[in-house]
Amino acid sequence: MATIQTARAAFEKRLTRRSVVAGSAGLVVATSLAGRPTRVLGQGTPEATPVGTLGFASSPFTLGVASGDPLPDSVVLWTRLAPDPLADDGLGGMPGMPVGVRWELADDDAFRQIVQSGTATASPTLAHSVHVDVTGLAPGRTYFYRFMAGNEVSPTGRTRTAPAPGTAVDRLRFAFASCQKYEDGFFTSYPHIVADDPDLVVFLGDYIYEYASADLDDPVRAITGGKLAVLSDFRNRHATYKTDADLQAAHAAAPWIVTWDDHEVTNDYSGGEVIDDDAPVSVTDLRVAGYQAYYEHLPLRPSSMPTGPDMQLYRRVTWGDLAEFQVLDTRQYRTPFPFGYGEQPRTPAAFDPATTMTGPSQERWLLQGLDDSAARWNVIAQGVMMGELLHQGDPEIYWTDAWDGYPDARNRILSHIMSRGISNPVVITGDWHSTFVNDLKASFEDEDSLTVGTEFVVTSISSNGDGGGYQDYYGPMIPLNPHIRLFDGDRRGYQRVEVTPDAWRVDVQMVDTVLSETSAASTFASFVVENGTAGAQQL
Ligand code: FE
Ligand code: CA
Repeated sequence: MATIQTARAAFEKRLTRRSVVAGSAGLVVATSLAGRPTRVLGQGTPEATPVGTLGFASSPFTLGVASGDPLPDSVVLWTRLAPDPLADDGLGGMPGMPVGVRWELADDDAFRQIVQSGTATASPTLAHSVHVDVTGLAPGRTYFYRFMAGNEVSPTGRTRTAPAPGTAVDRLRFAFASCQKYEDGFFTSYPHIVADDPDLVVFLGDYIYEYASADLDDPVRAITGGKLAVLSDFRNRHATYKTDADLQAAHAAAPWIVTWDDHEVTNDYSGGEVIDDDAPVSVTDLRVAGYQAYYEHLPLRPSSMPTGPDMQLYRRVTWGDLAEFQVLDTRQYRTPFPFGYGEQPRTPAAFDPATTMTGPSQERWLLQGLDDSAARWNVIAQGVMMGELLHQGDPEIYWTDAWDGYPDARNRILSHIMSRGISNPVVITGDWHSTFVNDLKASFEDEDSLTVGTEFVVTSISSNGDGGGYQDYYGPMIPLNPHIRLFDGDRRGYQRVEVTPDAWRVDVQMVDTVLSETSAASTFASFVVENGTAGAQQL
């Protein structure tokens, strides 16, 4: 089947044909450990070097702090020791031995009322990252946390536990975002997210991009390294991103819930299938390296620690009786594209019931989770657009690296939601570097069919830079898709949500530019979904 050239494919290709850029990120100050730590040997395994015995010539907390996956009694605290964050070996300037990292969690940001503290082991096998799963906390509470290693103290982070199960919650405020391509622009949305003071930040994929610095033409910010292939490459790309002060501040401001999309590994891969014929190593090897580096750099529970090319990322977060998030992994378990990759005419193969976006286990888990949920709002947080975008009729053309490529899988989920009467389903999505607000229909071919749920697709933080051309390309298709309530292809930003028992309100927040270090932001559009009535209403 011939692959039809597409705006998205052309955009990706353009990036791989670009000229070499000299220079480095310009943010690395070479450092070394002033004193070699003493290796303490235990029962055949090196034990963590006690806190205080390491002397750092400069702070090892160059990548900031983060927290995530709040439960009513627990939250994960993250940091990674990296005094020289882009050291060639991917170990951040750390010695190849475990190091003790003290952590403190307090009621106040002056750390006068310490609630819990302890020492975690930062091991070279996980690039000296720590993922502390603090348990026994009070529900619905704000806490402050920090880390110490040697004589160095990390920045302070603020986090929050989820409300107690079943408790009446009258409000949840969160932001969601995706697609932060470092070289395409500054992350100018994050200061606005911090200023909004959300309870949570949800990040929906493309946390990094795997392209080679040599392929860049006119980068807004230079990156170092080739096309990512091995673990040290992925580690240093994550580290480059994590040195961004605005990203660090957003992580320090609130707990994050993250899932991935394709670029944490390689462009538009599907499970075991890779479309990139320039891929430097096998998709299995890319998954091994990409998944490990992803785990090492994000505030995930140790239960998400990968094993080889496998990582448990799909999970649930519940906010009292108000909202439950089913956080999906829409990459790892996919079957190959049922009717080919790219912009393709849909064929009967699209409706093969063996095709899947989530894999059968995750699909059963999702449908069961929706059935079991007692929440008023049921959020499906996931990577790629669920609503249909018909490109043209006769033959009917769709972009297949989205649920449009897996329509039987989409039908199974929407049919389940409809037949079980799931309470207020809302899908939040990243990936497209565009904003869409979609009514999810019982039949997208029938404008008058039931609206089953509502989808909000967030634009990119920086990917495509300012403009980018998607407005001109996709804009003319929108009239073919009357269930699409809003489309914008050229602006960068995030979405801000306020959930109450009566309504889900979204402000589509857009920045003026990602080409300068700071930017104003403003509300481009606002929508409400009323309790009990699927579909978005523009305010
Ligand atoms: Fe992206
Ligand atoms: Ca993507």
